Amino acid sequence: MPELCLICQKETATLPEGGGEPRFCSRCWETRLKQLFREEDRFHIHRTMRTAEAEKYVVFHDEFEQGDGPVGVVFAMLDRGPDHLEIHAFLTNRFDWKATVPFIYEQGVEADVAAMDVFCSILEHELSTSWRVSSFSIEVSLCAGDPLYIDSRERGSTHEPDDEDRPLPP
Ligand SMILES: [Zn+2]
Repeated sequence: MPELCLICQKETATLPEGGGEPRFCSRCWETRLKQLFREEDRFHIHRTMRTAEAEKYVVFHDEFEQGDGPVGVVFAMLDRGPDHLEIHAFLTNRFDWKATVPFIYEQGVEADVAAMDVFCSILEHELSTSWRVSSFSIEVSLCAGDPLYIDSRERGSTHEPDDEDRPLPP
C-alpha cells in the first residue's frame, strides 16, 4: 500500500525521487519548496540614499501597511582598500523575526526557517551582490520600540566648520 504524504495526509507520497522512501505528495512538495521565495517576496527593500561608498535602505514588510513605517533600516558601507562591504541592519522588534516558515530543501530535507534568516538571505544574495565586492559582512541590531525614530532638519548655509576641517572623533 502506497504511503500517504506526511504533510497533507491525503495524497499519495511520490517525492523526493531517488533517495529513500517518498514522503510528500507533489502539491505539498511544490508549495514548501516555493515557501521561502514567497517569504522573501514579502520583504520590500527601498534604497533611499546613494553615494559612491555607501547606501541606505528602508525595509517594509507585507504584514504592515506602508503608513505603519518600515520594519528596518539598512546601511551598506564600502571599504575600498580591502574591497569589503559592511552591511548593518537595524530591525524593529514590532515584527516577529523569530517566526518560522516550513520549508523543504531540494534534497527532501525539511526545515523551519526563521524570518530573520529569510531576511539575511536577501541581504546576502540580493543586496551584497549588487555591489560586486570581494567580501562582505552582515551585522544585525534589534531595536526595541515603535516606530523607528527619524528626524530631519535644515542647518542653513552658515554652519561651521567645513567638512574638510571637521576633526575626527578620538
Ligand atoms: Zn501532501
